[in-house]
Amino acid sequence: MTDQEKYRKFVEWLDNPVWEFTESEAMMPMIMSYISPEEAEFMTGIPLNAKTIPEIAAIKNMDPDEIAPKIKALCEKGLMYESMRGDSVRYKLLDAQQMFLRMPYWSGAETEELKNVAHYSNKYYMDGWYDQMDAVHQKGLRAIPIQRTVEDVRQVMPFENIMQVVDNYEYYTVSHCPCRHKHKLDPDYQESAYPSETCLHFDELGRHIVKNGLGREITKEETLEILKKAADAGLVHGVSNQEEKPDTICNCDPIYCTMFRPYHLLGHSQAMNKSNYQVKVIPETCKACGLCVKRCPVDAIELKVSSQATSKFNKAASVDTDICIGCGVCVHKCPTGSIVLEHREETTRPPKTGREWSQLFVEDRLAAKQEQARIE
Ligand code: SF4
Ligand code: SF4
Ligand code: SF4
Repeated sequence: MTDQEKYRKFVEWLDNPVWEFTESEAMMPMIMSYISPEEAEFMTGIPLNAKTIPEIAAIKNMDPDEIAPKIKALCEKGLMYESMRGDSVRYKLLDAQQMFLRMPYWSGAETEELKNVAHYSNKYYMDGWYDQMDAVHQKGLRAIPIQRTVEDVRQVMPFENIMQVVDNYEYYTVSHCPCRHKHKLDPDYQESAYPSETCLHFDELGRHIVKNGLGREITKEETLEILKKAADAGLVHGVSNQEEKPDTICNCDPIYCTMFRPYHLLGHSQAMNKSNYQVKVIPETCKACGLCVKRCPVDAIELKVSSQATSKFNKAASVDTDICIGCGVCVHKCPTGSIVLEHREETTRPPKTGREWSQLFVEDRLAAKQEQARIE
């Protein structure tokens, strides 16, 4: 089989209506800059649901002893996932999003190979690849308010309270933010001013990360310290969009984040999903300093003339609550305490489990495909 055929079969294997490879000149260079023809050939046919080494060996018609080191190397490269539950260890192929937008960058390495894939991945992302995500209502992350920015803690559900979410884990890790790291590696972009080592993962996902050199184990106290520094820096806490056992807390920036970038630059209707909070301004004490306007990741705040304002120019912060995602980034640093988070009237719950989230994702993608076919 020629190298071209190996890559063609690999693309066919990973391509599906739920997450497609869209046409772009950047697509093949992205794949070929990070995956060798031999790796492409080996990964073709490996399922995206977890299997044991003997099961994968049977699928590939190879010896288990021969494939074990290959699978290990692919896990370390961020192309496969090692699922460890009790004594059971199984492996799965990652989907294309995870391969090219997320896992390879967690280690923070700066190899030539990573610089190349980052460059083409950034191009491909902006050249239509990520637009298929616009139709998905339940995004991968949901905003969760910064600790202590919530006015009335009595109404808080466990999944809305970052302290309770963090308390729920046994194993804590930190990795580099892939969104910021892959822009740092790309000469077409400037390095982000925000901190990089802020991506928090827990329990099973955390164990995969540490075992495969994609991040490091930390304590619960270090996790809380990272969250505090992220909040001070103006990063948005985004938690995996599921009620039970979310495995990730991201600390996202408004410029390079996979969630905010399409909202600002590609015209997507939504960034990450909203929390159940929205902002209320106390115009009488607002000094119209504009800090909250600068910090808001979705441009929901403006300074407007107000009859209740007491500032020099009769202006006060004014928030569009339809746009506000309830992250608390503005509240956290207001010098006069003039902006608070209050619970929205209606409580929306995230999907119960990761499986439920995946089903909703698939339904939205398939509905969008049908609608596209109907129009064409
Ligand atoms: S989603 Fe946010 S924290 Fe997660 S990797 Fe992207 S920017 Fe970083
Ligand atoms: S609400 Fe606070 S941060 Fe925003 S303009 Fe007023 S004083 Fe400044
Ligand atoms: S106004 Fe902006 S910064 Fe403040 S909570 Fe809403 S989205 Fe976050």
